[in-house]
Amino acid sequence: MSTQPYEVVIGLEVHVQLLTQSKMFCRCSTCFGAAPNTQTCPVCTGMPGSLPVMNREAFQLSLKTAVALNCEIPEFTKWDRKQYYYPDLPKNYQISQYDLPLSREGWLEISDPKGAFEPKRVRIIRAHLEEDAGKSMHDEVAGKADSRIDLNRAGTPLLEIVSYPDLRSPQEARTYLDELKLLLAYLGVSDCNMQEGSLRVDANINLHIPTPAGKVATPIVEVKNMNSFRAVERALTYEAARQYDAWQETGLTLGAPGGHKTTRGWDDQAQVTRPQRQKEESSDYRYFPDPDLVPVTVKPDEVQRVRRGLGELPAALRQRLQATYGIDAYDADVIVNQGRALVDYYVALADAVGDGKRASNWVQQDVLRTLNERNIGIDAFPISAAALAELLHMVQRGDLDNSRARDVFGEMLSSGKSPADALQALGIARVDRGEIVELCQRLLSENPQIVAEVKGGKQKALGALIGQAKRHNPNANPATVREVCLQLIETMSS
Ligand code: ZN
Ligand code: MN
Repeated sequence: MSTQPYEVVIGLEVHVQLLTQSKMFCRCSTCFGAAPNTQTCPVCTGMPGSLPVMNREAFQLSLKTAVALNCEIPEFTKWDRKQYYYPDLPKNYQISQYDLPLSREGWLEISDPKGAFEPKRVRIIRAHLEEDAGKSMHDEVAGKADSRIDLNRAGTPLLEIVSYPDLRSPQEARTYLDELKLLLAYLGVSDCNMQEGSLRVDANINLHIPTPAGKVATPIVEVKNMNSFRAVERALTYEAARQYDAWQETGLTLGAPGGHKTTRGWDDQAQVTRPQRQKEESSDYRYFPDPDLVPVTVKPDEVQRVRRGLGELPAALRQRLQATYGIDAYDADVIVNQGRALVDYYVALADAVGDGKRASNWVQQDVLRTLNERNIGIDAFPISAAALAELLHMVQRGDLDNSRARDVFGEMLSSGKSPADALQALGIARVDRGEIVELCQRLLSENPQIVAEVKGGKQKALGALIGQAKRHNPNANPATVREVCLQLIETMSS
């Protein structure tokens, strides 16, 4: 496959904002876009004497996610204070989970239907809950004059999902993120809006390089500040190449003096990573249990209840669509990756048509193209699965060929008509088979050379005849013309 002289090793830390109405430890709203500092209270601004109370909904959503990520759920979990000083953190500590997170040791399977890499389980180290910090607005509001702090986000529940360094290319990292985001959407635990900061990714990356003296590893770099999955892929591609160049120049390896972990930020404009502040060791955070919050116990039967309530998740759904409707892995992937609502549409269509492959083609080509053009979701799509099924039945019966069916589809889209009414509006008449037979007989007698060629095994010669038939009667179905001509020629020769 690749000829690059090193192996890329990547682990991802993903912070996901949970879809709760209120914050993690107070009742302030988590709604995005409000005027600065209007969604705050003594708890989330760290006023002395205020006491946090855990948001049960946030905990439930986290549990659901952790179970879906195949994590172990310990019976006992607690809250810790992670202490550091920063202007957007008014308490001077973040409530997080240190040594007893709510979940650990899970996995998420990723695969590429185009076969760029083998399907693999990416192991999850842990998923834990914590609160978000506020937002610093440097020079955004007041030109170059000053910086301001908006604490609306402070205290928003975040689920931090940390993977093992199991990813071996920027593309695998991208696929992992796509799959994780899809899973979170199916679970309904986050809207994963990267623009609004609902999903943030930090990546740890280094290289393993074979040398005559054995394999060496470059110092690990944590890459931050990536605003889209595409940016993650690009940043990691850039960073791998940069680390290889740096190693060739300096020979510096992980574990050597000076070979410690560093942090770099992705500059999307310049498409490069740049050094950022050195990261604290975890001992610098002086974690200790939060005395204001009681630990949480999760009984095994509660985990069972959560597991039963998960619903059908993307991986299982892909399998089912392939097994039930006879479509291949690639098609199942395209449909499932669009989200649950499109899957429901496809299933309704495939069931009604009784032909999973035909339904899949129409959904992937005509339906998805329309959704993209109009920038709408399937819930706003004007043609119901039942109406589309009716149209596809006409194609199945041979009343319409695919290109005429596409015209009818267009008419149904723009007018909201039923297939039958759309057909009438377009002046497409059903063609009687007797008419086609008559037409074919005439064309064959006018074109003896074509008949001779077909008899000689050149069925391709029929193409010209089909074109003529279409000119005589635009409603003639090419497949029917072809079939009738072949039958007629066969009877002639016997
Ligand atoms: Zn608050
Ligand atoms: Mn964190």
